[in-house]
Amino acid sequence: MIKICSSIGFCFGVKRAVEKAENIKKENPTLNCYTFGSLVHNEKVVKSLEEKGIICINNLDEAENGFLIIRSHGVNPKIIDEAKSRGFEVIDSTCPFVKKIHNIVNNLREKKIPVVIIGKEEHPEIQGIIGYAGDNCFVINSVDEVDNLPILNEAGVVVQTTKIKSEYISIVTELVNKIRVLHIYNTICSETIKRQLDSYNLAKESDIVFVVGGKHSSNTAKLFEISKKVCSKTYKIEDSSELDVNVLQNIKKDSVIGLISGASTPIEEIFDIRDKINKHITKNMQKY
Ligand code: SF4
Repeated sequence: MIKICSSIGFCFGVKRAVEKAENIKKENPTLNCYTFGSLVHNEKVVKSLEEKGIICINNLDEAENGFLIIRSHGVNPKIIDEAKSRGFEVIDSTCPFVKKIHNIVNNLREKKIPVVIIGKEEHPEIQGIIGYAGDNCFVINSVDEVDNLPILNEAGVVVQTTKIKSEYISIVTELVNKIRVLHIYNTICSETIKRQLDSYNLAKESDIVFVVGGKHSSNTAKLFEISKKVCSKTYKIEDSSELDVNVLQNIKKDSVIGLISGASTPIEEIFDIRDKINKHITKNMQKY
């Protein structure tokens, strides 16, 4: 039996950014339309946007004037200023959950309170947050890294929207022991919390799980981690072309096959994979 997780397809922020980009291009077909970085961590979707004339750039030098769409992860405000000064019309599709973090760290910066950011420093969302927090900020991603912080009497702490909640709690607990006055903001987004919980529950009752999402998608990596802990036969794939039916060899008639999707995976991709698995099982019915 195939069970699909109740939270699948694009999350609210990704859906909003993709729709905004498509509408801008539709309303302005003759003007250039760029996204700063991939709008979605999914190659098929990026390709289909390109076919519609929405081009991904990683550097402003790669583009001529036109619309510049800021993706849901947000960016360093310096990039927005630079784009505006070069004459781009900037469409800010930063997810409101991320925007909230920008506002929090901006406030802390104005009050001269150091900021501790929990997350992956190289991730674009964290790069954007650093830009708003200013120089007095520190990025850590594990309990061990708390020791790398300087002595701080007071600090504000925010967290990457896709962080696993239990990891966040462990790090904050350690910070409480180290910093006397701590302003704690739980900025994990509600969509992430729900998706992680739904994925965990599905993985627990599954014999085999496929987590579908882009190779560079941080939230997909977290879902994989969560699922793998409770279902050892968890596989991460980007799309139906990566589905290896050989891993289905030993499943039984009453086995549960779980399908989980990252926040950048189109819903159609999950249905394609479901159909491919169903087709394989029907064809090999006598063996199962
Ligand atoms: S995962 Fe959450 S914060 Fe990130 S884009 Fe989706 S809704 Fe927004």
